[in-house]
Amino acid sequence: MKNIFKPKYKFNPETLQYEKITFSFKRFILRAIQFSFSSIIFGAGLMFVYILVYDSPEEKILKRENRILKETLKEINIKLDNTDKLLDDIAKRDNYIYRSTFQQDSISYDIRNAGTGGTNRYKHLEGYESTDVLIETSKKLDKVEQKLKVQENSFRDIIAEIRKNEKFYKNFPFLQPIRTNELTRIGSFYGYRPHPILGVVHMHQGIDLVAPTGTPVYASGDGIVKSIERNNTRSGYGNSVLIDHQVNGFASRYAHLHTIEVREGQKVKRGQRIGTVGNTGLSTSPHLHYEIIINGATTNPLRFMITPEPDEYEQLIKLTEHKGVSFD
Ligand SMILES: [Zn+2]
Repeated sequence: MKNIFKPKYKFNPETLQYEKITFSFKRFILRAIQFSFSSIIFGAGLMFVYILVYDSPEEKILKRENRILKETLKEINIKLDNTDKLLDDIAKRDNYIYRSTFQQDSISYDIRNAGTGGTNRYKHLEGYESTDVLIETSKKLDKVEQKLKVQENSFRDIIAEIRKNEKFYKNFPFLQPIRTNELTRIGSFYGYRPHPILGVVHMHQGIDLVAPTGTPVYASGDGIVKSIERNNTRSGYGNSVLIDHQVNGFASRYAHLHTIEVREGQKVKRGQRIGTVGNTGLSTSPHLHYEIIINGATTNPLRFMITPEPDEYEQLIKLTEHKGVSFD
């Protein structure tokens, strides 16, 4: 090891002799400080160059993450464009096929593309390197979301309309309540006529379907048996059934029955047997007095009644034996 206290000699050109250098502590400290200082400057310089040229491990991770995020955002943008086009196609089908089929007004382009409001909605995304792509993506996402909401509501409307139509179709009392091949004739129509027993002109509130006693009577539409009247005196409707069809205030009455085969509050289907033709109440011969009532007032049943061909009638009755899907 080098001894710093070992005597040192220096050549003096004037005397042409080597002269002993005496050790100076002050000079030693100065030299030491000078040396350390230049070392520090050199080290700092090296570090600076290193930082300029090379990233720290954290920076490397962040830069990589940033690159992946940008690439992913671009992919999301492309997918959002495709989704938007798909939604436009669905909107066209919705307007021109689904909605028009179910008599719904079409939904305008403006409503389907309505903005979500707020002028500075994307302000929090401003001031970054990726601001443009972030705002673009957010706008597309909001647009797609809005279109989806409108589309969902539209489908809800259509489903509600289908259910309403289905209920209306099932409940509307259009079936002639006696089989076509068992009906002798229509004995009396709706309107003013001389009463066969009372002899006075009075309003006949329904139609009289003439058929032998015991001929089955069928419900003209789905509904609930609202009331049953059992009357063995020779007055009024005799034995009768009133069905509430639960659509547009419609009800139907079946009077002068021989037997009643349903009970109050019972759900009935169109074509379901509810009793048999009789001659009870104020009646001169076996027939079914059939009424259609709208919001409490009678109307001419022939306005609504259809008389199917015998085989069609059988099919309609068979249909009621199937327990279909019920929406109510
Ligand atoms: Zn009558």
